[in-house]
Amino acid sequence: MFEDFIKYGRLLFDQGLNNSHSGNISSRKGESIYITRHGAKLGDLSFSDVVKVNLYDESRDEGASCEIKVHRAVYLANPKISSIAHAHPPHAIVLSLTDEKIKPIDMEGAFYMPEIPVLTKCEITISSNCVADNLPSLLGVFGATVVRGHGAFAVGKDIEEAVMRLSVLESASRIIFLNKLLSGRGA
Ligand SMILES: [Zn+2]
Repeated sequence: MFEDFIKYGRLLFDQGLNNSHSGNISSRKGESIYITRHGAKLGDLSFSDVVKVNLYDESRDEGASCEIKVHRAVYLANPKISSIAHAHPPHAIVLSLTDEKIKPIDMEGAFYMPEIPVLTKCEITISSNCVADNLPSLLGVFGATVVRGHGAFAVGKDIEEAVMRLSVLESASRIIFLNKLLSGRGA
């Protein structure tokens, strides 16, 4: 499992879905959450960058990513979700500024995720109680969600599936963005 944090953290960075210090990854194991530490560089993780916290007890979250409250809320609301990945995919973020949802127009994007909702109601979106309250139900249905102006969260049965959803989301968003440019409707 630790190898997957390193492998897919690097993949998110290499694909341009995160900057040097953005993003986080977690996996649930029993009553524990393994999550990247606060300030970790996802593209250059080591084993010591993954910290273990309790699924139920937030008093022992020291050192964890500042998004731990969102990850915990997602796990508690969705018992079948095993992993979560968070990134800042630029084209998806641009679309989220104006759109209420992202509907892929390419075959592969539409196949994997016909619709990705945008969470628009939260004014504070980093380490946010509003996001923790509203994101779990969306992820349980759609598998990925963009938080307006901030970034995207995706879930899966493992880290690979969560990261795959972020990757598909960004490539589908890039295609929508380019199509808007080409058709003269503005970016
Ligand atoms: Zn973020």
